[in-house]
Amino acid sequence: MAGAKLSDADKDKLKELNKEEATLGAKFTAQLQAAGKGLKNTTQQPELQSMTDRAKREELFKKSWNRAEKGDANDTRKIISRIAQIRSAQAALLGFKNYAAWKLQNQMAKTPEAVEDFFSKVIPAATAKAKSEAADIQAVIDQQKGGFKLEPWDWDFYAEQVRKAKFDLDENEVKPYFELNKVLINGVFYAATQLYGITFKERKDLPVYQEDVRVFDVMDKDGKQLGLFYCDYYKRDNKDGGAWMDNLVPQSKLFGTIPVIYNVCNFAKPEAGKPALISFDDVTTMFHEFGHGLHGLFANQQYPSLSGANVARDYVEFPSQFNEHWASDPKILKNYALHYQTGAQMPQALLDKIKKASSFNQGYIFTEALAAADLDMQWHTISPGSPLEDVDKFEAEALKKTNLNLSYVPPRYRSSYFLHIWSNGYAAGYYAYSWTSMLENDAFSWFQENGGLTRANGQRFRDMILSKGNTEDLGKMFFNFRGHNPDIKPMLKKRGLL
Ligand SMILES: [Zn+2]
Repeated sequence: MAGAKLSDADKDKLKELNKEEATLGAKFTAQLQAAGKGLKNTTQQPELQSMTDRAKREELFKKSWNRAEKGDANDTRKIISRIAQIRSAQAALLGFKNYAAWKLQNQMAKTPEAVEDFFSKVIPAATAKAKSEAADIQAVIDQQKGGFKLEPWDWDFYAEQVRKAKFDLDENEVKPYFELNKVLINGVFYAATQLYGITFKERKDLPVYQEDVRVFDVMDKDGKQLGLFYCDYYKRDNKDGGAWMDNLVPQSKLFGTIPVIYNVCNFAKPEAGKPALISFDDVTTMFHEFGHGLHGLFANQQYPSLSGANVARDYVEFPSQFNEHWASDPKILKNYALHYQTGAQMPQALLDKIKKASSFNQGYIFTEALAAADLDMQWHTISPGSPLEDVDKFEAEALKKTNLNLSYVPPRYRSSYFLHIWSNGYAAGYYAYSWTSMLENDAFSWFQENGGLTRANGQRFRDMILSKGNTEDLGKMFFNFRGHNPDIKPMLKKRGLL
């Protein structure tokens, strides 16, 4: 797949192309950093939500939108049209009709056509919802006698007012019910015990790399040690942002190793003696990362390269996003969402509010992500030998072609500052986020149809999905579990788009 069987002449050609791509990718990153100083990498900027001066909002939005298109030394457009051209030439040398066809051959989707088909099914629902959200926002603007038509720089400012009126959720009301240790033991671990029969025991005798890190023995249903789980939840100055899972030791029959997994988050550390109270988003993150953890813990492979979470990009977030669903399962919630002082269960009204809040702004969020994913796919399906594209023209036509050209929902990343795809390894891969959302929601709907949270259902998911790593065709694996190919409806329903 990387050209080992090419003729010497073609190998040389490919090497030249690879070299030029790497150089341009680095140049792109450097220019973007210089052009985007003080800006977040997304199109929308967090400050827009609270800026009352409309002219200032427009100014900031345009600064973001045009950051890499000023015609100066940091203009990235020439670079990206050349990178797209190079990639199509690489694909041609390797015998593929375009770059995406080469890149997707070992992914679950397999072909760009499968991804485009997926887009064409979800775009109507996403944009319809975005349009209805836009109507809500326009109503607020009109009510306040704004006298203007909604533009992208108005969206977050007015959406925030809609959120407060319709979906308000006071974090301070919620947090006392989510104490980190209870969430971990009575929520995350408890759900895994209910579903998979595994149990956990804290180990104080094992070394840790930092004093807040905790280690647990993970025992299988027969009491045998399955692996070790390390968790490192608090923010520190010398720690990267975000949350992630990885293996310290991967499972492998070849090397006779059992998995040692860790989860990292960035929650604020409480003062000594005070409980760590976290938001429902943070709770969801813990379930998410532990879902990756289960993929690693249940791994049962010969080769580490195919073990556990070493799967395709459009599949790897399936177990983790799937595991998030248990955070709001009534039986699990009842066990962990307890007031840290009184021990009282979370009132139903508050639970309902949390649920409702999760559907806020989903039309916008989904549409902007699809627009970015669609741009990515169209840049990487250009034919070998195509001329250098005019970036703005290409982008406008691409979005128009797929009905993603809503004036008030710009793509989450514009071509000229889409770092993921030009130099961060996500080329022809940004669709994966939405694709896996389809998988996990459809898999969860299987549980809903078959009695929900039971040991038998959990065992089936473990046997057919979580223990298999990358050793079977991913599409077949999903089909065997679900009984049909992935369906978009459960995802649309979860997001409030159906
Ligand atoms: Zn993840």
